[in-house]
Parts: sequence; structure tokens; C-alpha cells
Amino acid sequence: MKSVEMPSSLTVKELAEMLNKTPVEIIKQLMRSGVMANVNQVLDHDMASATALALGYEVKPSSPSESPSVRSKAEGDNLSPRPPVVTVMGHVDHGKTTLLDHIRKTNIASREVGGITQHIGAYQVEIDGNKITFIDTPGHEAFTQMRARGAKITDIVVLVVAADDGVMPQTIEAIDHARLAQVPIMVAINKMDKPDADPDRVKRELSEQGLVIEEWGGDVMCTPISAKKGEGISDLLESILVLAEVLELKADLKVLARGVAIEGGVDKLRGPVATLLIQEGELKVGDTIVCGGSWGRIKAMLNDQGKRVKRAGPATPVEILGLDSPPQAGDAFSMVKDEKEARLKSQKKGKEFPRTQVITSPEVKDLNIVLKTDVEGSIEPIKSSLEELSNDKVLLRVIYARSGIITEGDILLARASNGMIVGFNTSYGTGTKKLAEREGVDTHLSEVIYKLMDEMGMVIQGMLEPEFVDVVDGIGEVREVFSSAKGKKVAGVYVLEGSLKRGVRVRVMREGEEICESTIVSLRRFKDDVREVETGFECGVGIRDFSEFKVGDRIKSHVRRKKDESTYQEAGITVPRNDKRPSHS
Ligand code: GDP
Repeated sequence: MKSVEMPSSLTVKELAEMLNKTPVEIIKQLMRSGVMANVNQVLDHDMASATALALGYEVKPSSPSESPSVRSKAEGDNLSPRPPVVTVMGHVDHGKTTLLDHIRKTNIASREVGGITQHIGAYQVEIDGNKITFIDTPGHEAFTQMRARGAKITDIVVLVVAADDGVMPQTIEAIDHARLAQVPIMVAINKMDKPDADPDRVKRELSEQGLVIEEWGGDVMCTPISAKKGEGISDLLESILVLAEVLELKADLKVLARGVAIEGGVDKLRGPVATLLIQEGELKVGDTIVCGGSWGRIKAMLNDQGKRVKRAGPATPVEILGLDSPPQAGDAFSMVKDEKEARLKSQKKGKEFPRTQVITSPEVKDLNIVLKTDVEGSIEPIKSSLEELSNDKVLLRVIYARSGIITEGDILLARASNGMIVGFNTSYGTGTKKLAEREGVDTHLSEVIYKLMDEMGMVIQGMLEPEFVDVVDGIGEVREVFSSAKGKKVAGVYVLEGSLKRGVRVRVMREGEEICESTIVSLRRFKDDVREVETGFECGVGIRDFSEFKVGDRIKSHVRRKKDESTYQEAGITVPRNDKRPSHS
């Protein structure tokens, strides 16, 4: 038996190299033991050792000096402890809001006479000198929506379960969402004041979901509370601090400030406002930041009690003024040197909203699947058939599987994991089909197994050979050239084919040659701004960084499509078909 020396942690890729295997082999082995991992995932010593053992290796522990975690500690000299960031989740009406309100009222971090508490999307409380940051939007939808935008802000999930109602569907969804995000869960059994409270039932039902509380030999902390009466809440807060201690949460104070926007909006008097949660560094009034597609110099900063502050450190929520436009919840922000860098970065970022379905790595592409089936019994066979479609280039992983209709949570989960929805004998819940389209999540539903597998086979083919083509979407002809108020030139255009839309990429063609490639930035019919102008109509067109229109120029708008997409759309499939397959036409 070959033997290997295992460090205290390493990535899947590193383990594969060490064992002379492909990353796919490692991931498959991990899957067999119920662990979903990707190529860059970090495995701890135990998990890596177990995998190596299962693949026929003997494992020797490594000398401590070589362990990567020791190295990283040495590098992390600037790290200071920071407060935990907590999200409250649970079934509707189990008391999440009541709990958050109670904690806020009794424990706000610094009490000032006459200080008003503001709802800015998060708040901080202080218990014996230790701070905890609570995200003020309870529920897993908001949590996963953030994650879908690439933000990971929560350190701990407090799962609220009503003692008189027990584990309910959204309790289970919340558990799943927290687990997929790899955020530790602790439980608050609420409504203990009710005569029909049955905490043992809750504990039993939780253990059926794999959440075994400490009292029963597991590792999940559990606190009985009454959010309404305020009982048990200080115990709960203490437990949060204990778990935070175990998690050793740290942040670097010396780096340029960065973090995530948790709310954004426009205030009639104050203009664009945003609540930011700082994750690293320190943010100060006067700093210039880029946040998603917005940027600006911070004019003022207010804490969760509406009090002006000059600076704020990690895990602190602040409301800021000074951005040029409101960011979206989940947008990352970072501090930049000056306005020039800010403009540049914000332009880029605005366009870079990730919408990919495939996480690419040089070796393997991951295809994450959220599976919904009609009944529990169909999950296992469909899951394994799907996973068997994996080959050495594409790895299909069912990251989540449940029976029932497709919910908003499912779509967001697929979005958050860059995945797609597969449904067997199930249907869309209200509004979820639209949501999937809006979020760019592919869905594949069928009532026939072999059809579903066929389709998924095609998806994999599509992933192997992604072929994109530029398709002309509309053509307009310049008939007149005007000067706009700001001295810019605007073209009077007649739409010959298709339509022209604001925001789309266009090429300006003169005598068959391309003279400019840019974007339609303004589109007008008479004096009105419009989004789209159809064939046969006239309009005014302004193009970014281009003014040299001449009568007779053609403006062609383009969209990027996967090759042959139209054929698949007819078949209800949104991916390229393998050309070798027989066509149904
Ligand atoms: P959410 O939907 O999870 O945010 O639940 P809410 O906080 O809105 O609470 C739902 C209902 O349960 C409200 O009528 C609350 O007053 C009530 N409630 C919340 N916590 C408790 C509790 O500890 N005891 C009792 N008896 N009622 C509670």
C-alpha cells in the first residue's frame, strides 16, 4: 500500500495531485461519502485522509511545520478578532421578527438618550463588551439571494423553530440553504411560553433532518426561548458568542476596506443611500468606493442608530451617503484610490454580473443540479442516473434534492450555486418560471425519465462544445443627423429589420465596412425615451463614444447566442443540441 503524508488541510486539486488521480476521481469519492466538493474546495485533514484511505492509500500525519494552516496563521499577523454576523431563519410565523425586534430593543450596541433605532438592514448588539451583528432580513430567501450575487456575509444561522408547531417545510429549506452555504446552524426553540409547547418533538424532528443537538450527543447548540416574553434570549446570545469563539472569526484591519451592500435605495432628500457591511479593513468618511455598478465618495456615514460616525470596522453595518446610484443587495464594495479608478471599476463591474451556469476549471466543469421530483421515492434513482452522466470533462452533481413543486428558494439556490433546475414529474410554483428566466437559471422538466436524461446529455454536450454566434437582432438606417443639446450627435434612424433596443451592442456600418462598435445609450421616439423601436418606425439613436454619423450608415444590433439555440428553444430546451443526434423535424 502506498503511503502519503497528509497536511492539516489541502484542496481537492492538491489531493488529486498527491494521489496521482484526477480531480474527478477525488470528487466522486467524496460524493460517495456524501460530501459535495469542487476542485478548489479545501478539505480538512480528516476528510482528505478518509478519501485517500478509500482510494487505497495509507495516511501518515504530517509534521506540524509543513501544515498549510500553520503557514497561513503566520501570514495572518494583521488579523484581529471580529464580531460574528448572524442571520435568523425558520418557518413563517415561528417568531423570527419578534426575536430580532426583541434583541434590538434590549441590546443595541451603544445606548444614547434619545437615540432612535433605524432600520438599515442590519444592527449590532453588545453583550458584556462583545458585539454581535444581526442581519435584519430574516429568512432563507434573502440569504440565498445574497449568495446568488456572490456575497457570503453570514457566519452563523440561528434557526427558529416554534415549540408548538415543530419542523415545517421552510424549516427544512432553511437547513438545506444554510448547509449548502456551509454556514453553521444553531437552534432556538421558540414559543416556550405556549401551553402546547413540545420541545422534545422539535428536537426529534430536527435529528431526523440530521441536526442533532448537543444534549442528544450531537454538535448543534440549542436554546429554548420565548421571543415574545424575552425569556432565554440572553442564553441564546451567549451561545452565539460561544460558537463565534469556536469559529475564530478574524478580519484584517490594515487592508483597503471591502465588504457587501446589504440594502440600497434612494431617499427623496438624501439621494442614493446604501447599507454596507464591512468585512475587511476600516471604512472612513471621505473614502472613495466602488459598489457593484455604483461609485462615490462617502459624504456621511451613519450607524444603526442613525448616529453619524467617522469610521467603521469589520462586521459593522453602516448607512452611507455619496454614491452616484443605489447598489443592489449583495453587491460587493471595495475602497479605491481615487475617482478615476472608481469610474473605471464601476463601469466594468456593472457589466460583470455573473450569470454563468458552468463553473469552469481547466480540468473539469461542474454542473450543479437542484433536483425536484414528484415523490421522495424518485429522488435516489434519478439522482444516481443524473450523476452517472458525468464524464471526465463534466461533473454532474445533485447538490440538493427534494420532492415537491419548484419553489422560489429552489431557483435562488440554483442561481447561488451556478446550477440548473431539473424537475421530474413536477411543476413550477407560482411565479417561479418567470423568476428562473429573470435570474438566468436553466430549467429542465419532464415526466419521462429517458427524455430527461436525453436532455441532460445534450446539456453536457453543450458544455463541452460551447459555440457562440453573434446574431443580428435589428438593422436601422441613418436618415438624418442632429446635434443634441450637449453638442453630441444623434442619428435620426429608420428601423429596417427587427428592432433596436436601448443598451444593446451595435455596429455602425458604412458602405459595408464596420466603423464603430459600441452601445445604444439613448433611444427616443419624438421627445420620449423608449426602450425599443420596431421595424417601420423612426427614432433618435445615440451611441456611446460615437458622433460621426453620416446619412446612409447602417446600425446593426447584435445579440450573442449559443449556436442553434433557436432549434432548441422550439423543443423547449435552451442549450445546443449535439449535431450527431437525429433531428425531429
Ligand atoms: P416570523 O414570520 O417568523 O417573523 O414570525 P413573527 O415574529 O412575525 O411571529 C409570528 C407570531 O407569533 C406573532 O403573532 C408573534 O407575536 C407570535 N410569537 C412570536 N414569538 C412568540 C413567543 O415566543 N411566544 C408566543 N406565544 N408567541 C410568539
